[in-house]
Amino acid sequence: MITTSFFELFKIGPGPSSSHTIGPMRAAYQFRQDAANYLSTAQHQPNSTWQIRCELFGALAATGHGHGTHRAVLAGLMGCTPTSVDTEQLTNFFETVNEQYTLDFEQTQILFTENDIFFDYGFNPYRHPNTLKLVLLVNYTPVLTQVFYSVGGGFIEQEGGTKEAIGKTNVAHKPKHVYKNMQELEATQRNTGLPIDQLLIENEMSLTGMTEEQIFDRLDDILRVMDESVQRGLQREGILPGGLNVHRRAKTMYQKAQQLETQRRHADSLFARLNAYALATSEENAAGNMVVTAPTNGAAGVIPACLAYLRTDCQIPEDLLQRGLVVAAMIGFIIKNNASISGAELGCQAEVGSAAAMAAALFAFCHHEALSVMAMAAEIAMEHHLGMTCDPIKGLVQVPCIERNANGAIKAYNAYLLAVGRNTQPIISFDQVVEVMRQTGIDLSEKYKETATGGLASSFGWGNMPGS
Ligand code: SF4
Repeated sequence: MITTSFFELFKIGPGPSSSHTIGPMRAAYQFRQDAANYLSTAQHQPNSTWQIRCELFGALAATGHGHGTHRAVLAGLMGCTPTSVDTEQLTNFFETVNEQYTLDFEQTQILFTENDIFFDYGFNPYRHPNTLKLVLLVNYTPVLTQVFYSVGGGFIEQEGGTKEAIGKTNVAHKPKHVYKNMQELEATQRNTGLPIDQLLIENEMSLTGMTEEQIFDRLDDILRVMDESVQRGLQREGILPGGLNVHRRAKTMYQKAQQLETQRRHADSLFARLNAYALATSEENAAGNMVVTAPTNGAAGVIPACLAYLRTDCQIPEDLLQRGLVVAAMIGFIIKNNASISGAELGCQAEVGSAAAMAAALFAFCHHEALSVMAMAAEIAMEHHLGMTCDPIKGLVQVPCIERNANGAIKAYNAYLLAVGRNTQPIISFDQVVEVMRQTGIDLSEKYKETATGGLASSFGWGNMPGS
């Protein structure tokens, strides 16, 4: 049964990585709450020495520096959440060697430095590739230990807790319309006769207790942050942080699109605009600025690009875009429930492939196609991302990630065209391609799962180690 909320999938937060930035920040924030509870009841001498230590395992250790995981952990321990954090302050954490930060609790203050975060590059003894352990110590003895898994898209799970214990804010009930895959959803829609967007909104109301008006207000916020990321990215120039010397290109790509338009090269201009919009958000993400997980930070450029194109170039009204976002979420829910949206688990096919599948359904919905066409478009988009590895150079979400988002948007658009131009039944269903993606991801070598040790990343050497 799918019980994910729109606002768990679409989360506002800083770049560059939902699993390496947003997830760890949320885990550290959660740990801070529990540490505060412990401190409020603990009986210790007033002059006791308190410490907090963090250990990162698996892909969180391998690419944590490039993704800013250490900064995200500090922010969470200081009481920041992904939506409230000051992105400028976040990018400046640990800029100075041996800088000390003070974690303020009601009963005491705990000093924290970069040395309190240990990147464990060895064997990961835990069940998930993105694992972090947080420990509260008094007089050098651990008194509170928690292990978290950052499972993709900013979702976290706590060792020993239920999957829903964290990351399911405000979700208290069951969905009104139960389904676990596209086949069941199509049957439910036939039986109820409801438009698919309305069916999904009824589920959201049932799951979260929110009114329809509250849901649309929050969808509006998501659309606004996505659009702001496109507009900011189209204006900014310069070099992205991280030392790879990657230049921002969205602005010049957009200028190229306008030039092509004046030359009446309309098809070229269309592709150039989609590219520009996707580069814009992905560059903002790489710079650590505010974006929306869609379904992850690494793939955050695809859906905003398609929305910008639909809004600006197709004059699709805002209320239809809000409902289109709901349909995009539907595709993300099914993938997350039956496979994964995490590059560390199944490679980039699970991130950019999922975003492209979601965007393909968005195109179909906004052009008033049936659910069967949305499913077909999503299937085609995912099919042509199968096997795509996650191999970010230096552990940064820049190469190949930024261009990959642009290609994801173009593939989504073409998948929609391929679906809408079809008058025969597809050989492969959406549910089948999701299962194939899962199996393919399991078969992928570990080095292609966000470890920065294979593919393009290996062409650059093991460059994500501390101090490199
Ligand atoms: S290669 Fe793909 S999955 Fe890996 S970090 Fe980049 S966008 Fe994310």
